[in-house]
Amino acid sequence: MDLTPGEPTRERLGQARALGRELVRPVGLEADRLGRPTPPGHPFFARLVELGLGGTRWTGEPEPEGDAGPAKERGPGNARATLCVAEELSYWDRGVAVSFPGPGLGEPPILSLGSDGQRERFLAPFRKRDRPRWGAFAMTEPGAGSDVAGIRTSARRDGDDWILDGDKSFAANASRADWIVVFATVDPSRGREGHRAFVVERGTPGLGDFKIERKMGLKAYESTSFTLRQCRVPGANLLGGREPATRRAGFKGAMKSFNATLPTIAAMAVGMGRAALDESLAFARAEGLLGDVRVRDGLERIRRRLRVARLLCWRAAWLADHRQPNVTEASMSKALAPLVTFEAAAFGMELLGAVGGRGDHLIEKLFRDAKAMDIVEGTGQIQRLLMARKLVGLPRDPS
Ligand SMILES: Cc1cc2nc3c(=O)[nH]c(=O)nc-3n(C[C@H](O)[C@H](O)[C@H](O)COP(=O)(O)OP(=O)(O)OC[C@H]3O[C@@H](n4cnc5c(N)ncnc54)[C@H](O)[C@@H]3O)c2cc1C
Repeated sequence: MDLTPGEPTRERLGQARALGRELVRPVGLEADRLGRPTPPGHPFFARLVELGLGGTRWTGEPEPEGDAGPAKERGPGNARATLCVAEELSYWDRGVAVSFPGPGLGEPPILSLGSDGQRERFLAPFRKRDRPRWGAFAMTEPGAGSDVAGIRTSARRDGDDWILDGDKSFAANASRADWIVVFATVDPSRGREGHRAFVVERGTPGLGDFKIERKMGLKAYESTSFTLRQCRVPGANLLGGREPATRRAGFKGAMKSFNATLPTIAAMAVGMGRAALDESLAFARAEGLLGDVRVRDGLERIRRRLRVARLLCWRAAWLADHRQPNVTEASMSKALAPLVTFEAAAFGMELLGAVGGRGDHLIEKLFRDAKAMDIVEGTGQIQRLLMARKLVGLPRDPS
């Protein structure tokens, strides 16, 4: 397993670093100071589109199935290259990295469940460079977070259409999105097997009440609640076919997405942890604290643990690129990296002392930003529960 990033990835990393220093960090600090997400009309987003960012990883070619061999490093579907760039951007500001235009978390379910026609309809527009566009993903509800089987948003057939009713919360970039992949149940008595995914387009009557949530950190991107009231969605927007719900089309589809994205979330946490380490080191040096063995030991411990977390992320991505199952490694990376990052930020806060309490130091911001990384896309606790079930031979998914 050779984990050295190749030339194409190194080139992208260099670009991400330059963009991070010039724009990503300042935009993140601005959003944090103002306490609100960067608005969609901000020149930053137009600049990203000019730079060729905000596109889709869908190439127009069919998605490789089964044992299709390793993904090419230059290819847009390469998990490890994606993960390395995500780590670097998050080093500069993870909230801003998530605010980037693009189909976001809505893309994996369209890639894994959608037909070629649906990919063309919903993803091809992201190849145009005319304006910033966003997609979104809405699974979480006010009463269903970790327990995704408990979602209550309903989908009822009405002729060729579906009628959606329910409440969604914490969906990234939802109010600015051209479409949102919404998970709903066609039959609550079937638990996860009743789940289906629908692409709900902006402006669909019945989709509304967008409310941007208040967050302690990661303020640069919006996490938004919204409602679906008698929301009529054409049958052509149902992902995974029109037949009654199957495990593949519903819950399994969502989980497939998670396994593709968990190592990237974990790598983002590693990037934030690196930032906390660098800031702590700079502060300790400036304040003459490096003579203290406890300070040096604390800093080195964090560097060591960040390396371990990063290797787990890379391993999970390497498996994905070689079309090998990565469920356990993906969970491991997601369970570990956010904890290490939180530890890094907490150690930095200890070094800062009263300076941290002022609320204007980058480490203090990272401390607030870091907490959410353990929550998003399946909490650390849930990942640990799933891995423990698998370790002792129980089915990973209890239902
Ligand atoms: C910044 C941010 C962005 C997000 N973006 C999105 C998004 O784009 N789309 C989307 O759909 N959702 C999004 N979410 C929602 C996120 O996926 C949920 O917050 C997460 O799944 C946890 O759900 P919950 O908040 O309802 O917590 P709960 O499920 O209520 O959990 C509360 C606590 O209890 C623990 N817990 C729960 N069940 C168990 C159990 N069986 N055993 C032991 N411990 C348990 C959890 O680990 C957690 O610590 C986002 C959340 C945040 C904070």
